[in-house]
Amino acid sequence: MIKKIDNLGRVVVPKGYRLMLGLEPGDPLDVEVEGDRLVIAPHHEGCTFCGGASTLYPFLAKNICSECLEQIREMPTP
Ligand SMILES: [Zn+2]
Repeated sequence: MIKKIDNLGRVVVPKGYRLMLGLEPGDPLDVEVEGDRLVIAPHHEGCTFCGGASTLYPFLAKNICSECLEQIREMPTP
């Protein structure tokens, strides 16, 4: 599919692609350059501490993974 970039640098993501990926207006996207390619992907929030994405628990509007949660639990208390 060929899309043209407008004079403000914007590109429309085709509706079919948005539906396939479950993208809604306002959703965050990762935008990266890989060689001569521009790669746009849905941003999935990982663990606040390690960036991992395995078993995430929400805490105060942040995500924490089970491994980091375990490390915090094992921290000595003053
Ligand atoms: Zn983590």
